[in-house]
Amino acid sequence: MSAAIIDGKEFAARVRARVAENVARLKADHGLTPGLAVVLVGEDPASQVYVRSKGKQTLEVGMASFEHKLPDDTSEKELLDLIDRLNRDPEVHGILVQLPLPAHLDSDLVINRIDPAKDVDGFHISNVGLLGTGQKSMVPCTPLGCLMMLREYHGDLSGMNAVVVGRSNIVGKPMAQLLLGDSCTVTIAHSRTRDLPDMCRSADILVAAVGRAEMIPGDWVKPGATVIDVGINRVEREGRNTLVGDVHFDSAVQVAGAITPVPGGVGPMTIACLLANTVTAACRANKLAEPE
Ligand code: NDP
Repeated sequence: MSAAIIDGKEFAARVRARVAENVARLKADHGLTPGLAVVLVGEDPASQVYVRSKGKQTLEVGMASFEHKLPDDTSEKELLDLIDRLNRDPEVHGILVQLPLPAHLDSDLVINRIDPAKDVDGFHISNVGLLGTGQKSMVPCTPLGCLMMLREYHGDLSGMNAVVVGRSNIVGKPMAQLLLGDSCTVTIAHSRTRDLPDMCRSADILVAAVGRAEMIPGDWVKPGATVIDVGINRVEREGRNTLVGDVHFDSAVQVAGAITPVPGGVGPMTIACLLANTVTAACRANKLAEPE
């Protein structure tokens, strides 16, 4: 039997449509246009693609988009000064600094300079602390997208065994916090985990956020489990570049109950959640009810 395919592309389109409705309502009822500022330092080609895509989708839902492209040799002071200006700008409700930054810039320092209320990536230490203590925060977009898909597919996640493979600050750890918040029993695995295959086989929900092409084969998946594949890995197949996840899709789809494909799974949800977070930030800044 083959798993249900969780269609992130279609789900993300629905999230964006809802964001567009909320933006139209904020404009009509309150004269408020949510604005997202994206800061890119340097010429990293993948980052340029992401930033272009974020700017395009921001405009498509009716929000204001402010792009700041800075040269590779931008000093820390110049970058921090820009963030200070964006923090003060009332038209900017969300600020995103595209990572990774060039090596001479301290990303922790830079991210923690963003006003936590405008930190739509949810990486500021205040938001990390709020999420970890179950308080209202800005939630990192990729794990938020994963949680939304899981809730949509399962409804209540309470009591399910979740294994998150990967412990990064941007995916693995916040994913684990969100699953814990939904009352899953959560295990976080990483490169030093002993007997990873058996641990994965214990998961009702298996989230792979590693960055190693197809490292999780179907026989690590519990029959009927839901598999969320966060990985985006560029590989060469039959002479051309293609994207694959951290899960070996063709074998996992035979065993899982549901699975996200790569591409078309988690990826599209990330930007949709960024747009949703920006609307939330704009509502909070103006003391308006947040969209559901
Ligand atoms: P990081 O490199 O920051 O973290 C990878 C994690 O995987 C680490 O915790 C590492 O463990 C763990 N790991 C590495 N090798 C193994 C192994 N052999 N067995 C078990 N665990 C291992 O990556 P990110 O979290 O930033 O990203 C993970 C993947 O998700 C990447 O493919 C990235 O491209 C993708 N991604 C996708 C997004 C989307 O929008 N869909 C957004 C963000 C990321 P340790 O800590 O011990 O080193």
